[in-house]
Amino acid sequence: MKRTLILQDTEVPMRSNALLEVNRRIHGEKNSESWLLAFSSDQESLPEGFDTIMLVQDEGIVKQDARHICAIIIDLHERHAFDTILIPGTWLGRMVAPRVARRMGVGLVAEINDVQRHGEDLEFVRTAYSGNVLAGIAMKSEPPIILSIKPGIFSWELKSQVKTVVQHYKGEIASPSSLTPLERKQRPLSYDIRDSDVLISGGGGAKRAYPMLETLAKELGGEVSASRKLVDQGIANRSIQVGQSGKIVSPRLYIAIGIDGAIQHVEGLQNVETILSVNTSPDAPICSISDVVVVGDAKTFIEKLLQKIALYNEQTKERANEYT
Ligand SMILES: Cc1cc2nc3c(=O)[nH]c(=O)nc-3n(C[C@H](O)[C@H](O)[C@H](O)COP(=O)(O)OP(=O)(O)OC[C@H]3O[C@@H](n4cnc5c(N)ncnc54)[C@H](O)[C@@H]3O)c2cc1C
Repeated sequence: MKRTLILQDTEVPMRSNALLEVNRRIHGEKNSESWLLAFSSDQESLPEGFDTIMLVQDEGIVKQDARHICAIIIDLHERHAFDTILIPGTWLGRMVAPRVARRMGVGLVAEINDVQRHGEDLEFVRTAYSGNVLAGIAMKSEPPIILSIKPGIFSWELKSQVKTVVQHYKGEIASPSSLTPLERKQRPLSYDIRDSDVLISGGGGAKRAYPMLETLAKELGGEVSASRKLVDQGIANRSIQVGQSGKIVSPRLYIAIGIDGAIQHVEGLQNVETILSVNTSPDAPICSISDVVVVGDAKTFIEKLLQKIALYNEQTKERANEYT
C-alpha cells in the first residue's frame, strides 16, 4: 500500500480534495492511503475523502509560514515515509514545494496539469515556454515523488464513504516562527463581480463542480460568483458573494448553477437581462424568476456545455481555414 501526503489548500480549504484525483491517477483506485496535512482549529469544516487528516492547531501564523510547513512535512515524512507528496500550486504551495524538495534532496515537478500512465511509467504534464508547449516529465528518482498541482484543473467526487481518522500534530516544529501578524486582510481578487457582463454563479448544488466554473467562465468571457453557501463552506472567496450580505450585480447573463434562490440571494440580482438556472429541482425558487431553466445536475451541465463550446470553436476554426 502506497502512502500519499497532501498539503491542504490554505486559500480554499475545501478544494483540497481535488488533489485526491491526482493521487488516484498516480496510484490507482484503492492502492494508497491518503493523508491530509490541514491547518484549522475547527474540526467541523474539514474536507472529506481522506484516510487520515493530520491537524495542526492553527495559531493564525503557522499556515502562513512556509518554513514551518516545510519542517512539519519533513518531520511527518521521517515518521511515515510517504511515497508521494502533493502540494497545491497556490502562492503558499509555491513557497513550500521547492523548499521541501531541496531539503529532501529529490526532484520537484511543478504546476502539473495532467498525469498520464504508460504501463508502469508515469508522465507528469505541465506547460512550458509561457504555455506554448506541453512538456511530459518522467521521474526516475527514488520516492518520494514531489509534485505541485495547478489549481482548478482536477476535480474529485466522493464515490464511497471514507472513514477519516483525525490526528493532532504533536511533533516539534523546528523553531518558533519569526513572523508576527500585524493585520489580516482578505486577499483581493483581480476582478470585481459588479463589473462583469457574464457571471457563472455556483451554489450549494455546485459544490463538487466548483473548480469547473472558472473554466466555463473563461470560455464565456465572464467571471465566477457564488452564493453565501459556498462562501460559508470555505469554497468560494467572500468577495464574489452575490446577495444581501454580498454584492449587488447586474450582468447581462447570470448562470445560477445549483443555487436555490433564497430571497437574500435574489436581492443581489438587479436588472439582470437573462437568468439561466441549472437545478436538479424544478421547484427551486430561482426557477420561477429565470428566463431559461435547465433541470439537471450541475457537473453534467457544465461538462456538456464545455464540450459544445469546444466543438463550436473547432468548427469555426475549420471554416476560417477554408477561406484562407
Ligand atoms: C441575514 C442573511 C443574509 C444572507 N445573505 C446572503 C447573501 O448575500 N447571499 C446568499 O447567497 N445567501 C445569503 N443568505 C443565505 C440564504 O438564506 C441561503 O441560505 C443561501 O443563499 C443558500 O445558498 P444556495 O442556494 O447556494 O444553497 P442551498 O440552499 O443548499 O441550495 C442548493 C440548490 O442546489 C440544488 N442542487 C442540489 N444538488 C444539485 C446538483 N447536483 N446539480 C444542480 N443543482 C443541485 C438544490 O435543488 C437547491 O436548489 C443570507 C441569509 C441571512 C439569514
